[in-house]
Amino acid sequence: MRALQLAGDRKLELVDLPAPPPPGEGEVQVAVKAVALNHLDLWGFRGMAFAKRKLPVVVGVEAAGEIAAVGPGTSRFKPGDKVVMYGAQTCGHCTACREGRDNLCENVTGIMGFHVDGFARDLLNTRERLTIPVPAGVSMRDAACAPIGFSTVEHMLFDNAKLKPGETILVQAGGSGIGTVAIRMAKAIGCTVITTVGDNEKAAKARALGADHVINYKTERFETITRKLTGKKGVDVVFEHVGGEGFNGSLLCLKRGGRLVTCGSTAGPSVQFNLMQLFQQQYKIFGSFGASMRNISDGLAKMANGLLPVIDMEVQLADFEQGLKRLESRAVFGKIVVHF
Ligand SMILES: [Zn+2]
Repeated sequence: MRALQLAGDRKLELVDLPAPPPPGEGEVQVAVKAVALNHLDLWGFRGMAFAKRKLPVVVGVEAAGEIAAVGPGTSRFKPGDKVVMYGAQTCGHCTACREGRDNLCENVTGIMGFHVDGFARDLLNTRERLTIPVPAGVSMRDAACAPIGFSTVEHMLFDNAKLKPGETILVQAGGSGIGTVAIRMAKAIGCTVITTVGDNEKAAKARALGADHVINYKTERFETITRKLTGKKGVDVVFEHVGGEGFNGSLLCLKRGGRLVTCGSTAGPSVQFNLMQLFQQQYKIFGSFGASMRNISDGLAKMANGLLPVIDMEVQLADFEQGLKRLESRAVFGKIVVHF
């Protein structure tokens, strides 16, 4: 079977690997149909000195596919069922897993496609427990964006920041994969959305998605405009995943008692900020990573009801690297999906 492996920094190889054995006790076998790209793929592709992993590793951190075979002791699926897979091999036994918060698992073996073999292969065996059904009417292309893209945003907005209808939110980098989802999810519950983008073409696309106010952060100071738009009060929630120099600007956009939720640091992982500002303004800052199993089902249910991911580009497996390079160029608006 085909598998796409990372052999070294920036070195991808399409190889022929033996197909997996029939699924064992409690396992299902999935035929992968589509893989969606994430910044995590880019971090892995560039090489991360501190990440504990052995190369080569099969890439692909989120995917959708069809059940090819079911093992003994399973009951939820039959061959042909459409599914997505949780992006980490969690234990299922620890307190966090038992409470459905797999992203806090105490015994996780690593992120699939990054630390351990991922989804960019024709077939894989996985535990039934980590397999989530795709509702009727949702395409494999869209479903592939559920396990990380949609669920990360669900977890950030609703579990962590507790975004409520009618609130005002600043979505940083609204053209990114998760930024586009955040705009749609916030608009779907009746929030006012302010977003930042890096060029005018993306600004038009963000407006078309429903954003109420779009700021080109390259030509305008987003913190100044955001404060002006909110009558100097600030927003209820900031959706952050950029970090770097913009992080302090994001804090300045919050109203007193406002919530900032972050899941990324694409512009740099270290920032300095003023602790007096933090406690006097009573900001709440949430670090968010991954999602619960329920977040993935909730995201898929939203897709079934018409809240779809924005697709930037679709490529075949052989052009995976072309997709990564487009992600790296920041020209991307929405998600890049790789078909099998
Ligand atoms: Zn666990």
